[in-house]
Amino acid sequence: MSNHTGCHHLLSTLSDYIDGDLSAELCAELDQHLEGCSNCRVVVNTLKKTVELYKEEDGPDDLPGDVRYRLFQCLELGDFQSK
Ligand SMILES: [Zn+2]
Repeated sequence: MSNHTGCHHLLSTLSDYIDGDLSAELCAELDQHLEGCSNCRVVVNTLKKTVELYKEEDGPDDLPGDVRYRLFQCLELGDFQSK
């Protein structure tokens, strides 16, 4: 609890996470947070499933900006990803 990192800060790293560009440090931070935060766990699981589904259907390595934008909107994370 003393080292609590805000959910929103953690979730803001997810765009890098999707890109496979998250640093090991942040990745560990994210994992640690997820262990104690079921809210974020749900978000990340949903995000992963969405990305996997998307990849299965269309095959590209990267999510187009529009898809990502809508994804974050859907997850109510749009404010940090706004242009
Ligand atoms: Zn959280």
